[in-house]
Amino acid sequence: MSTVQFVLDGQAIEAQDGQTILKAAEAAGVYIPHLCAFKDLIPHGSCRVCSVRVNGRIQAACVQTVTAGAVVESETPEILEFRRNIIDMLFAEGNHFCMFCEKSGNCELQALAYRFGITSPRYDYLNPDRDIDMSHPDVYLDRNRCILCGRCVRVSQEVDHKTIFQFVGRGHEKRLQVNGTCLADTELSATDEAVAACPVGALMPKRVGYAIPVGQRAFDAAPIGADVDARKGGAA
Ligand code: SF4
Repeated sequence: MSTVQFVLDGQAIEAQDGQTILKAAEAAGVYIPHLCAFKDLIPHGSCRVCSVRVNGRIQAACVQTVTAGAVVESETPEILEFRRNIIDMLFAEGNHFCMFCEKSGNCELQALAYRFGITSPRYDYLNPDRDIDMSHPDVYLDRNRCILCGRCVRVSQEVDHKTIFQFVGRGHEKRLQVNGTCLADTELSATDEAVAACPVGALMPKRVGYAIPVGQRAFDAAPIGADVDARKGGAA
């Protein structure tokens, strides 16, 4: 495969032709924050946390492919503020109570908040009225914590080869729906990759509370993105 060069925050980076900016940056040891992008799933650029400026225009790094000579800005004050605002709004838009959430310490939204130095909300909470689906024997779906990233939808289809989740409604009415009246009506298994892919505490296996003690969870050990940052020799 041929390679192309582009510039990311002043650094020349060699990438594979057709590679996304997010993947090329990660390969070069530059972490670009993201939420809806996940491993090798087909990206769809919905959360916009990975926004960068490409030749002056804001684009989602998870879907925008590299082009030869492109000038990409990621860690500018403007872009950092843009991302921080999105993360702030995700907290305000749902009902996230980190201190009571089993995902705390393993939650990517919480970890991004820490990375961006968010300690209190900037926007008023919307306090939406959302339900919790406890019907399944081994998995629950807490829509209060769902950030509508779509990972479960795509992983279920692309990896588990099931069609369990979908989005219904638009704008403020948009919500995650299951293919049936409730989770128990679906062929979801606790071992499905879709369950593990949820970045927050919305889709969770049951009976795992404190199986990993607080203080020993993924982001207790290292901040989100540290694994990528380490490739070039230190955290950003
Ligand atoms: S349940 Fe989790 S993975 Fe699915 S859309 Fe909501 S936050 Fe994303």
